[in-house]
Amino acid sequence: MITIKNVTTADGNTTDFSLPSKEAHILDGEGLTLLPALIDPHVHFRTPGLEHKEDWMCAAKAALFGGITTVLDMPNTLPPTITLERLKAKKSLIQKQLKKCGIPLHFELYLGADKFHFDQIKRCKNHIPALKVFMGSSTGNLVMDDEESLHTAFRLCAENDLLLAVHAEDEALIKERKKLFQGKTDPITHSLLRNEEVALRATKKAIELSLLYGTRLHLLHIGTKKEVECIKQAKKEGVFVTFETTPHYLFLNVDDYAHLGTKAQINPPLRTKEDNDALWQAIQEGIVDTIGSDHAPHTLEEKTLPYGQAPSGIPGVETTLPLLLNACNQGKISLLQIIRLMRENIQDIYRLSPNNDYILVDMQKKMVIEDRHLKTKCSWSPYAGREIQGWPVYTILKGKIYDLQETLVQEALVMVP
Ligand SMILES: [Zn+2]
Repeated sequence: MITIKNVTTADGNTTDFSLPSKEAHILDGEGLTLLPALIDPHVHFRTPGLEHKEDWMCAAKAALFGGITTVLDMPNTLPPTITLERLKAKKSLIQKQLKKCGIPLHFELYLGADKFHFDQIKRCKNHIPALKVFMGSSTGNLVMDDEESLHTAFRLCAENDLLLAVHAEDEALIKERKKLFQGKTDPITHSLLRNEEVALRATKKAIELSLLYGTRLHLLHIGTKKEVECIKQAKKEGVFVTFETTPHYLFLNVDDYAHLGTKAQINPPLRTKEDNDALWQAIQEGIVDTIGSDHAPHTLEEKTLPYGQAPSGIPGVETTLPLLLNACNQGKISLLQIIRLMRENIQDIYRLSPNNDYILVDMQKKMVIEDRHLKTKCSWSPYAGREIQGWPVYTILKGKIYDLQETLVQEALVMVP
């Protein structure tokens, strides 16, 4: 049994709290706040094939440091996860890596939609939380940009009662607009090229298809005010649509290219301050359903290539919660909203089994985000240099307590007792 003395709960009460564990341990919870452990529904942990960018040994540690004990991993690996056989092979590779690092992280794997493997949807439906459809190209080659294939994916997901999670950018429009920006090397080009129309067109299309087939649709990494308005309207009209936003659209915008360069390059791209404000407003209104980190690490070497050669994606699994806790201290979001967006709604939308994991956060603790503290293999963050108030200090996963404060100065992850 683990007993946590005098701990504050998310609604502000102080209590002694206990939960089952093989080992007996008493933690002093004075000054700390107890929250259920969080879920990151959008990570790219890069196994198999891209382990030079990230692996599950580093990423599992990074997740614990971000108060996250469950992750949903994306299929754009090498090779991509597009068949039951590849799902199973990937799962066993991951289990080996998790065993090696001694962190039994909960994980689920998306199936990637591929027009030559539609038969896999039915075969895989009981093994996956969702089908991932890339309407616009990103890392890997999983883009599905033709009308007929999109219809088939939406229809099959509806028939198999499977959630369809979509990267909504219109590939045809991206290709067309690329011609307008040829030879441009300023990283802000990325946001101008893949503009809000690129995202909005695909988002509208996805909603249309969801309505047509009755597909459970989850729109990933939504970052523009116009999309939020469009989804809000669709929800009002009874379309089964939910959506995710990510820290990039809350804490970064186009002004950040000036100091981050291609480090800030992601798909869909950074938007404006006005879009940031619209997303915060949407959180307050309860329209946003989930927050995922879209942890998509690349090495620093890859990211410092000039625009046009640098890959898109930034890490974030361990900085999402601290950024949100800091925002909570600034009155922009409440702890209960964080729990809803990063746990409860995700469990409902992806139909995940419940767990008994918890985290303890110190809402007073101040610390600067520094690259050298990060556990992700790529060892950099676009948020480096920001002072954050509010940090997770313990993560309890499957009855084991991971002390996150110790490990900030030591290399190994310390387990108590
Ligand atoms: Zn992603």
